Amino acid sequence: MTYQAPVDDIMHALKSAAGLDELIARGLLGEIDEATIRAVIEEAGKFGAEVLDPLSAAGDKTGSKLVNGKVKTPPGWREAYQAFAAGGWGSLSAAEEWGGQNLPSIVATVAGEIWNSANMGFGLCPLLTLGAIDAIEAQASDALKQTYLPKMVSGEWSGTMNLTEPHAGSDLSQLKTRAVKQADGSYRLFGTKIFITYGDHELTDNIIHLVLARLPDAPPGTRGISLFLVPKILVNDDGTLAAHNDVVCAGVEHKLGIHASPTCVMKYGEKGEGALGYLVGEENRGLNVMFIMMNAARLAVGMQGVAVAERATQRALGYARERRQGRSAASTGAQMAPIIEHADIRRSLMTMKALTQAARAICLVTARETDVARRSKDAAERAAAGHRVALLTPVAKAFSTDIGCEVASIGVQVHGGMGFIEETGAAQHYRDARILPIYEGTNGIQAMDLVGRKLPLEGGKVVMDYIADLNRTVEAVRASNRPEFGRMGERLGEAVAALAEATRWIGGALEGDVDSAFAGAVPYLRLFGLAAGGVYLAKGALAGTRNGGGEAHGAQPIAIARFFAETLATAAPGLKDSVRDGAAATLMLAPDAL
Ligand SMILES: Cc1cc2nc3c(=O)[nH]c(=O)nc-3n(C[C@H](O)[C@H](O)[C@H](O)COP(=O)(O)OP(=O)(O)OC[C@H]3O[C@@H](n4cnc5c(N)ncnc54)[C@H](O)[C@@H]3O)c2cc1C
Repeated sequence: MTYQAPVDDIMHALKSAAGLDELIARGLLGEIDEATIRAVIEEAGKFGAEVLDPLSAAGDKTGSKLVNGKVKTPPGWREAYQAFAAGGWGSLSAAEEWGGQNLPSIVATVAGEIWNSANMGFGLCPLLTLGAIDAIEAQASDALKQTYLPKMVSGEWSGTMNLTEPHAGSDLSQLKTRAVKQADGSYRLFGTKIFITYGDHELTDNIIHLVLARLPDAPPGTRGISLFLVPKILVNDDGTLAAHNDVVCAGVEHKLGIHASPTCVMKYGEKGEGALGYLVGEENRGLNVMFIMMNAARLAVGMQGVAVAERATQRALGYARERRQGRSAASTGAQMAPIIEHADIRRSLMTMKALTQAARAICLVTARETDVARRSKDAAERAAAGHRVALLTPVAKAFSTDIGCEVASIGVQVHGGMGFIEETGAAQHYRDARILPIYEGTNGIQAMDLVGRKLPLEGGKVVMDYIADLNRTVEAVRASNRPEFGRMGERLGEAVAALAEATRWIGGALEGDVDSAFAGAVPYLRLFGLAAGGVYLAKGALAGTRNGGGEAHGAQPIAIARFFAETLATAAPGLKDSVRDGAAATLMLAPDAL
């Protein structure tokens, strides 16, 4: 069952949820028009289907391995990476100054879905490189930019993100990697980082590590962390490669999924002299720079959730059309029916499609706001969009990655016993998806970020304005009075009202007992995702009725939006109760009584 990029679904989400027409009309996306965006997505889809997808299952089986101190990626990986770089796919959103194509974030975000749907183990390498490019572009010195960005943007060199240490995961304040300043202004780094994605590989001639470390006189905690650029191979002044830096991959983890993506233990300064590094941004302000990279990476990881969900849905649909069991209401004669005719399998497939499309819409709206925040000429509009990116990023990351796991699990179920057997591929999606709620900040941490940092933005105005926007779409659905919309308006109205009530309750709880707000943070984020996702699908249904014609623009958006509102968004009022009333029971047992 080969992958096919869902070009019509993506374009529909871009137009209806992310307001593509308005962005183009206002010149917020530069010169690009709708036809060009579609053409880029179609080409990316071809590359995903023809080059990346065929390597995915074999890459999962072989995995990346440490051989004689070097990481060996699966057969075909290097050629695929070189074709990826040669096609300019790694440089879509990078600035033209560095050889990039300066395409909007929405286009790069959609491309990210395609790479990760086709082959998530591969997609992680460009994902982290893009994050590193963002951080260097935003904060590094001109000299560092000149030396490193052109090669990273062209895909000749890749990038990594080195935060995690054995005793410092979610809480980076305890990280121990040391950096010592040298007379010439450079630094020497010593320490061990774990779980570093694509920390070593042979896909590119050099790997540019962004490493968080602490200076000897740094204040304790997160205020004493600095960010360093540490190349695997040192670079001469003329840009040619010099000696190997004092950084090695000491191990590659054995893990549940994404076997092809090497998850490395990295040792800095093992030989004694220290790994040569260069400061990015200011001393002790490294976490702020890393947040630039992490926000972009969090949206990209949310899109990985969408990607796995999409791929699992396509595979389940294909299987459900082929596999015959039992008889359905439509059955005639003696033949068994394809399982897609059974009501429960139809429910499963509708759930997969609806959750995937809702998560995609949330991610694309977040990407849209990123573009507005970067490209609008109006400072107030840029600031408002920036706040919206901040609000939506934890939802895009956590809701979409939870969806990735859920949809992949339903995909296994649709396959029955064959879903548990590796050869169908459904099991790989399930295994691959499971990392998504963990890395780039666990989904529990995302929910706490949403509740503790994002709801209070501008005294609560950012979230309340957002909820008011959701309500405007609900009103439009109600006013449309279309019989085929069923109870969509009513159910979405209840979901958004539940979100508003839970938001107000959390606002109060944050002023008093913070733990009671955090106890409900995860159900709150789910409620947020259901309300927002339901509303974006409803926008798609409204647009569908306006556009008419064609399956992707006609019946599907209405059916999917109505299904979401009437069967999935109905959980919203219950989640609101969990948020509001659940804290006491959640915290009733003391930790030692659990
Ligand atoms: C395959 C893979 C790839 C990765 N790639 C990278 C990479 O490229 N670069 C990198 O730097 N890191 C990477 N990581 C590390 C990843 O980001 C961390 O695993 C993640 O941030 C969680 O940290 P931890 O594993 O230490 O878990 P912990 O921080 O120990 O968390 C354990 C549990 O406790 C919860 N928890 C922790 N603190 C709190 C709190 N204050 N309140 C409530 N709950 C809390 C968490 O949500 C989690 O459920 C990767 C990990 C894996 C497995």
